[in-house]
Amino acid sequence: MLRIDGVRKSFGDHVVLDGIDLHVKPGEVVCLIGASGSGKSTLLRCIDLLELTDDGDIHLGDLELTDPALDENRARARIAFVFQAFNLFPHLTVLQNLVLGPRRVKGIGRAEAERRARELLTRVGLADKVSAYPDSLSGGQQQRVALVRAVAMDPELLLLDEVTSALDPLLVAEVLEVVRDLKGSGMTIVMATHEMRFARESADRIVFLADGRIVESGPPEQIFTAPRDPRTRAFLERHL
Ligand code: ADP
Ligand code: MG
Repeated sequence: MLRIDGVRKSFGDHVVLDGIDLHVKPGEVVCLIGASGSGKSTLLRCIDLLELTDDGDIHLGDLELTDPALDENRARARIAFVFQAFNLFPHLTVLQNLVLGPRRVKGIGRAEAERRARELLTRVGLADKVSAYPDSLSGGQQQRVALVRAVAMDPELLLLDEVTSALDPLLVAEVLEVVRDLKGSGMTIVMATHEMRFARESADRIVFLADGRIVESGPPEQIFTAPRDPRTRAFLERHL
């Protein structure tokens, strides 16, 4: 469903992605791990068209995301991106945050968008927050709403960049629980994370990045118990 082939990206003379090849199957959950600065966010941003690649191709199904003639709106409607923080519009209620995208981008009617929003909020235990404003919610609740808002767009691909790293440790679990629930519903997810236990328990595949390259990738069991590359081993020793 997502095919990344030979992607390169530099900022000035700093090579940040140095030939990335990664294919993701429908329903697969891929966790990107690696030291800060290894290129995880840049890779996600290239997939979401927030950065232009210098070289290589990215395909989402039948759509070539790296095609210069790409209709970006068409692509964006198929991909959702949630990052660390500041995902919600502060001046809109939870419900308004949730219906905006479906109505504007997907042309869904208000009643239907609201019905779906309420259903999703119920699923993440926030049905009573429809009329609340984001700043009255905890960080964990805000991120649960942000995840629900992404899903309300019915994306083919969900990109998550360190969605728990700005949270109080006590709030991390409730957000990861939502990600797990999304995986259960068959969502295809590529996520950068420092939550190694989550990656180990919930990912289908771990991809370890260092210096803009995929050093090693495989099922969690293999990566966490028998990493082949010394750099993977060293990283895991520091982060487990
Ligand atoms: P990670 O998410 O793994 O921590 P990033 O993709 O954010 O890594 O960053 C990889 C490298 O690219 C870092 O050295 C960072 O400073 C650099 N970088 C990222 N975005 C930019 C930018 N817009 N301009 C210049 N350098 C950038
Ligand atoms: Mg990052």
